[in-house]
Amino acid sequence: MKIMSRTDKIWPVIIIGGGPCGIAAGAELKKRGVDSLIIEKGAVTESIRNYPKRMKFFSTAENIEIAGIPFATSHVKANRNEALQYYRKVALYFDLQFELNCEVFSTEKDSKGLFRVNSSCGEFTAEHVILATGYFDIPRMLNIPGEQSEHVSHYYKEPYAHSFQNVTIIGGGNSAIEAALELYRHDVNVTMLVRGEDLKPTAKYWLVPDIKNRIKEGKIKLITHAAATSIDEKHVEYVDAKGQRQILNSDYVYALVGYLPDRELMEKCGLEPDSESLLVNYDPETFESPVKGLFMCGTVIAGVRTEKVFIENGRDHAVIIADKIAQKTSEPA
Ligand SMILES: Cc1cc2nc3c(=O)[nH]c(=O)nc-3n(C[C@H](O)[C@H](O)[C@H](O)COP(=O)(O)OP(=O)(O)OC[C@H]3O[C@@H](n4cnc5c(N)ncnc54)[C@H](O)[C@@H]3O)c2cc1C
Repeated sequence: MKIMSRTDKIWPVIIIGGGPCGIAAGAELKKRGVDSLIIEKGAVTESIRNYPKRMKFFSTAENIEIAGIPFATSHVKANRNEALQYYRKVALYFDLQFELNCEVFSTEKDSKGLFRVNSSCGEFTAEHVILATGYFDIPRMLNIPGEQSEHVSHYYKEPYAHSFQNVTIIGGGNSAIEAALELYRHDVNVTMLVRGEDLKPTAKYWLVPDIKNRIKEGKIKLITHAAATSIDEKHVEYVDAKGQRQILNSDYVYALVGYLPDRELMEKCGLEPDSESLLVNYDPETFESPVKGLFMCGTVIAGVRTEKVFIENGRDHAVIIADKIAQKTSEPA
């Protein structure tokens, strides 16, 4: 007897990405009687796994619930660990199927109109594909010498490696501000470099008084109008407001200037994202892309404006897409 492997079968739906929105899509499909396979290049909710270890979501727990499953937390807002537990349990509850540690490289339609999904663990076949790859894998780069060194990271996790040392944070958005505050509270000498005249105006309102007061007290140093130009083992070089070259002592650098959806993957799935905005011309009513049968779900649809789509609103895409696919699969051929 030949045991059918996952690559032998034709899946009604393959979901690329096992983040909150991908899991929501799988759960909503299951509720409508449609099976799916979630192909995820890391672990379940890999992006959240890579968030700062002690982060707290800004949304209340009920606003990041998916598939109607209550998210019970000790406080009003969930932390990273609670979210990791919750989304995994939702997947388990709906008995979702995963192919983990498996990266999708491309999808293309064959002569029968089926999707061939090419991945690091083989070729899968599906009637529909949902692209739910988020944005957190591809950091925006500064493209300066030294950026790829071991003592530079585009992801902040925890402060303990840096106590009693100099850390430079490049960027003035929420991730940069949260990292600066946490590092400062663990006896790190923090300097923030921002290109503009201040921190980003999109900073969360409850972070603003905290960071502003620490800067005013001189506990955290903020250098504005500063463009980092290179990094070496012990220094960050930047050009100041007057165009002068300046050098900062720095044992470690966090370059936290944002993340981008995977343009190359979108193109390899037959999509044509705009070269500047990275937006794809999808149908806002159904989230179906110009490639028929390929849907876009979650933050990947936001292009470079990743702050526009998050779990709170991305989870709704899953419901609409599942309705559309369930309707299509129930129609007579
Ligand atoms: C620190 C922080 C705090 C946040 N707080 C909130 C909040 O309070 N409320 C809120 O609503 N949002 C919040 N967000 C944003 C939110 O987490 C994201 O918008 C959300 O994770 C998007 O979900 P997603 O499923 O679209 O993408 P993701 O969660 O990024 O999941 C995409 C998945 O796809 C996988 N993947 C990517 N490429 C491939 C590939 N080629 N093959 C296979 N798998 C692939 C990735 O590994 C990943 O697991 C926060 C974000 C950060 C960074």
